[in-house]
Amino acid sequence: MHTEPTSVSSPLHRQSCVGCDAACCRSVSVQWDKPVTSEDWDRIRWLILHKNTQVYEDHEGDWFIDFFTDCVHLRSDQRCGIYDNRPDICKEYANDECLKHGDDKYYNRIFRTQEDIDAYLACN
Ligand code: SF4
Ligand code: SF4
Repeated sequence: MHTEPTSVSSPLHRQSCVGCDAACCRSVSVQWDKPVTSEDWDRIRWLILHKNTQVYEDHEGDWFIDFFTDCVHLRSDQRCGIYDNRPDICKEYANDECLKHGDDKYYNRIFRTQEDIDAYLACN
C-alpha cells in the first residue's frame, strides 16, 4: 500500500515510501492459529508447498499466512490507483513498521520451505 504523497509529518507515515516497490501492496496476510500438533504442522507444510506463500510468526507471537499477489489497483508507477477510496486497512498501515522499514523487527520466524519447518521442529 504505497502512500501518496509521501509525508514525513503524518502520524501514520513517518518513514519514506520513496524508492520502495510497494511491497505492502503485493501480498495479503491471513491470521492463522499457532501450530501445535503434528496435524497443525502438516497443514502448514501443505500451505507452503503452494507457490507464492509463506507462513510466519510476527513480533507479537501471532501467526499469519502470506499470499503473494499484487493488488489490482497497484499502478505501474508503484502508486495506488484508488488512493482516495482505498480500504481502511491500507489507510491504517503504518509505514514505520512496514515490510521495508520494519522487516528485521517484524518477524519472529518465517517458514518458506519444508527445511524451514524441519529446522524449527528439531529445536522445539
Ligand atoms: S488499494 Fe491501493 S493502497 Fe491498498 S493494496 Fe491496493 S494499491 Fe495498495
Ligand atoms: S512497504 Fe513500506 S515503504 Fe514500501 S510502499 Fe509499503 S509502506 Fe511504503
